Amino acid sequence: MLRVAVNVPLSREFDYLPPADGPVPAPGCRVLVQFGPRRQVGLVLAHADKSDLARDKLRHCLAVIDETPLLSDADLQLARFTSNYYHHPIGEVVAAALPALLRQGKSLHPIVEMIAVTELGTSTDVEVLSKRAPKQAEVLETLCDAGGNGLEAEHLTELLPNWRRAAKALFEKGLIQRFESRAGDFDETLAPAAEPGPELNADQRTALATLRSDKDVGAFLIEGVTGSGKTEVYLQRMQDVIDQGQQVLVLVPEIGLTPQLVSRLRRRLGIDPALLHSGLTDNERLAAWRAARSGAARLVVGTRSAIFTPLKSPGLIVVDEEHDHSFKQQEGLRYSARDLAIVRGRNLGVPVILGTATPTLEVLRQCHSGAYELIRLPKRAGGARPPTMRLVDTIRSPATDGISEPLAAAIDSHLQADGQVLIFLNRRGFAPTLICSSCGHIADCERCDSRMTVHAGARQLRCHHCGATRPLASTCSECGETVKPLGEGTQRLEEALRERFPERSITRIDSDSTQRKGAMVAALDLAKEGEADILVGTQMLSKGHHFPKLTLVGIVNADQGLFGTDFRSSERMAQSIVQVAGRAGREHRAGEVLIQTAFPEHVFWSTLISGGYERVAEEALAEREATHWPPFTRLALVRSAAHQRADAIGFLELAQQALLAHCGETLRVLGPVDAPMARKAGRHRAQLLLQSSDRPALHLALRELRFMLEQSPAARKVRWSIDVDPIELF
Ligand code: ADP
Ligand code: ZN
Repeated sequence: MLRVAVNVPLSREFDYLPPADGPVPAPGCRVLVQFGPRRQVGLVLAHADKSDLARDKLRHCLAVIDETPLLSDADLQLARFTSNYYHHPIGEVVAAALPALLRQGKSLHPIVEMIAVTELGTSTDVEVLSKRAPKQAEVLETLCDAGGNGLEAEHLTELLPNWRRAAKALFEKGLIQRFESRAGDFDETLAPAAEPGPELNADQRTALATLRSDKDVGAFLIEGVTGSGKTEVYLQRMQDVIDQGQQVLVLVPEIGLTPQLVSRLRRRLGIDPALLHSGLTDNERLAAWRAARSGAARLVVGTRSAIFTPLKSPGLIVVDEEHDHSFKQQEGLRYSARDLAIVRGRNLGVPVILGTATPTLEVLRQCHSGAYELIRLPKRAGGARPPTMRLVDTIRSPATDGISEPLAAAIDSHLQADGQVLIFLNRRGFAPTLICSSCGHIADCERCDSRMTVHAGARQLRCHHCGATRPLASTCSECGETVKPLGEGTQRLEEALRERFPERSITRIDSDSTQRKGAMVAALDLAKEGEADILVGTQMLSKGHHFPKLTLVGIVNADQGLFGTDFRSSERMAQSIVQVAGRAGREHRAGEVLIQTAFPEHVFWSTLISGGYERVAEEALAEREATHWPPFTRLALVRSAAHQRADAIGFLELAQQALLAHCGETLRVLGPVDAPMARKAGRHRAQLLLQSSDRPALHLALRELRFMLEQSPAARKVRWSIDVDPIELF
């Protein structure tokens, strides 16, 4: 009998008999099963001797999809761990671990439609064609660029969404052709020859020696300021592992998977990595996954979900920018890829390296307790000096449109000295608030407890929480008087900077300016080449980029985090400031960081400026210990959302009742209460917080809770979820 994971929201495995004829599928193979009225793709988790179902109730699988297992025992072990730890149904975990095509039951080597230019096509004059039929010329040119092997039709659709219409005539004229092909396999030979890196400095050599000592294989944290040469150290360790014939998995933040890092890896290791990120077509993703699984790819680089990628012979896992929030999935299966990397490393007996300039307190605590080994790179490699930090008191020097006079003067002097400037504000749009100058009415979102953000260019009000939009009116909906945008977002800053520095080129980088595919890469490339004098942007700019000419970073509004309600506010704020500050003065020029604040006396600033992130983290850890917050206790959040508040709260009251039996010294239950933003996208949201000093006790309670809630009729009226180790308490 087979224990099968089926992609349904039930915390159960399902028993099936093998197909009536043919071999018994091994664990890790997919099968097709009848599930209620539907056919579903399932994955065999294990073989079993007996079932809770009576033999005559058991059904046979309809078909076996894979002859050999897609997932190894170790991969299944990771899926099981994930399901148990995050209290999420195993079927959904397995589904998350598989590329979309495999989840849909497609073959591991699907047949794909290819389009290629013919010989006649290559000799056609594209210029001439483009006069008569520009669309056709575009398709033909793209295919000529791709060469004789052609492009996947799906890929072509990405490049030219309406290519099929134009292609009709091209097919008829015999300029292009269509054929079917087994999905292309990964070709590693495209990589250039490996280039040697710089000679490591003393700190880097010590770090590398520690990584190589592998005392009892485990986890390492490399804590080093931006530019301290962490990447150089990983590169050398990766090289060792690859030389031993093993594979390396590198996890990077979503935004960090820039061509810059990838091209550095290619160049230095002389290996083409298999890439796994959200910008791929389904076929490309499957090809990379296949290459990782077969061992054809020696280097696998991906974002969060790449942690589930099977590896033939894993030798090392690297998590770059460990502190980045994108490692935690915030919906559906709410896992932390960083934490799973540690678990996977331990299960496989391979080392895990975490790297960052601003480690999370969770990871620091593991270092203090000796579970992970801490390696410090305190100095910038190559001798660049650390940037100096200075506060601008915005009470004494008020800002107009976000820019105070001292900041404006600093921008001017850095530009005069041929430096580049980055102005950071973590708020996109023109202004966060639209207010009536007469009655004080504020434009709110109709579906959320939030204000509408003014987007001046598009003349729209947008809700950044639910995506609702409405036209930007010039008069108040309540009293008819004029309204005005209050506060500033990146667009307003950009405008203000253009007014002040009309001669300078200014580039804004945020999720509005970079929606078009490739727009961000293009903007960043220009910025890196020093083409933009002033960069204005959000968090997007603070991650991992290297701007050689950048000498000044201005932080426009640093006060959001000082009085934040979340216990992580100060950790977060310090991380974001230190990360963005790290962009300044990376090469031969000293950098300067100016921080605008209305509270220059706040102790946070003196700690950060005199002791750096390390001191902020140390003090925050002491405070968390005293107040029993993570990492000294563990949290889980049960969330619910419903059209009626009573339903959302009522559901959590049931949960709270069920947890009473577990409450005591080691487990506290707080709530239910309204979520900090109680209404979002028309739904009322509530939450119940579990806090525990005893992990097994917490997990036992959550396990029972999950089963109870799944069965509960009240669950039909709400959307609910369990979030273990939540990083946002809303
Ligand atoms: P991090 O990953 O800590 O930000 P990198 O490894 O990217 O640091 O190094 C920052 C810069 O310093 C890069 O341009 C890199 O080539 C250079 N670098 C790193 N190590 C050395 C070294 N030992 N000597 C000279 N330059 C180095
Ligand atoms: Zn909204």
